Amino acid sequence: MTPEQLTVLMKELNEPAFRAKQIYEWIHKQCVSSFEEMSNVPKKLKEKLTAAGYTFCVPKIVEVQESKLDGTKKYLFELSDHQVVESVLMKYKHGNSVCISSQVGCKMGCRFCASTLDGWLRNLSNGEMLQQIYQIQKESGERVSNVVVMGTGEPLDNYDNLLAFIHMLSDEKGLHISQRNITVSTCGLVPKILELAEERLQITLALSLHASSQEKREELMPIAKTYEIHEVLDACRTYFDKTGRRVSFEYSLVAGVNDSEEDAARLKALIGDMNCHVNLIPVNPIKERSFKQPDRENIRRFQNKLENNGINVTIRREMGRDIDGACGQLRKKYMER
Ligand code: SAH
Repeated sequence: MTPEQLTVLMKELNEPAFRAKQIYEWIHKQCVSSFEEMSNVPKKLKEKLTAAGYTFCVPKIVEVQESKLDGTKKYLFELSDHQVVESVLMKYKHGNSVCISSQVGCKMGCRFCASTLDGWLRNLSNGEMLQQIYQIQKESGERVSNVVVMGTGEPLDNYDNLLAFIHMLSDEKGLHISQRNITVSTCGLVPKILELAEERLQITLALSLHASSQEKREELMPIAKTYEIHEVLDACRTYFDKTGRRVSFEYSLVAGVNDSEEDAARLKALIGDMNCHVNLIPVNPIKERSFKQPDRENIRRFQNKLENNGINVTIRREMGRDIDGACGQLRKKYMER
């Protein structure tokens, strides 16, 4: 429940309004998962809530894998309907970052992504998204300062829950994570990007671009057939105009597919006018596809070509290579087992 929904509930139960704040803080600041733990909430009220059927939607951690290379931890959660989703905790010098899933499976069909291989099952609720972070904090004993919605699923295809999630995550009655430390990644659902721009949030929008032309983008991302590349980039320009937030472009480099000098030149022509940042991701090979990473030298050359044209570029540090770190890999393996 959002703070507003909880306030309405307390009113309905003839309870004072401050109880809503108390209960909300127990769940979202202290991250408790039972009424018993709420020491300053009267027993009567706890009983009333239990009798009325209110329960906690707390995903259960069913598997944790820790990388021996970099300490990255991958978590597999079981939800109340026994579906599983995965999340990742990454430790950086500037703080801890959690990558969460927004849906069970995905319907977008991107060719290199393991999350979409078995299709889409359902959306995650705002609570299920928040709980991935709460449970990771509890299990690891680490404070989370950054959240990226870059796990399984297309967040803008679960728009209302995503918005409630962002508001609750940045709320001072909860973990109070600054919106500037929240990134939402999308494959480019244009109407939703425009709707999000109108919200004037301070989150970072990351756009999965992955290609320098409409033709190549269609090959890698079926959604490109619905929303043409220039239309997507225009939506990103609008996002920047409305929010003042620099857009981040994700570009997964696939050897022989989108890593040529011409690709870099075309990319420069596409986004050179924008206040943006490019994140190059050497493609994470999945066993179901034959995509390969370009060699280091090629990746550097691609980066240099963009940088020489004044574009901000980083190469995403690969983390958790030894623990199925890429989108959807752990869930898929678990399901197969
Ligand atoms: N649906 C959203 C968010 C999830 S994926 C989106 O499309 O942006 C997060 C990022 O990882 C996306 O840019 C996605 O294209 C990329 N990605 C997925 N699988 C990958 C892989 N195997 N190697 C490299 N990047 C991958």
